Amino acid sequence: MPVRSDEVLDPPFPRSLCHACAARRYVTGRATVFVQCTALAQKYPPQPVLVCAGFQPLTPPGRQDPTKGS
Ligand code: SF4
Repeated sequence: MPVRSDEVLDPPFPRSLCHACAARRYVTGRATVFVQCTALAQKYPPQPVLVCAGFQPLTPPGRQDPTKGS
């Protein structure tokens, strides 16, 4: 059964922009990790994604998202 998570130990396609995007999730199968997109209609974009109009930068840990007020 696939498992969905926000982080994985060994993400596929390390150069992919998706790893730095708040819209990505990982779906882990028995031997494979898929990058799932929650922002675009295409849920599993061809990897690696190098340019994307839907990119949403992840907020670095310890930093507050400036778009969410105080
Ligand atoms: S919006 Fe673009 S960069 Fe973000 S997860 Fe989807 S395909 Fe990847």
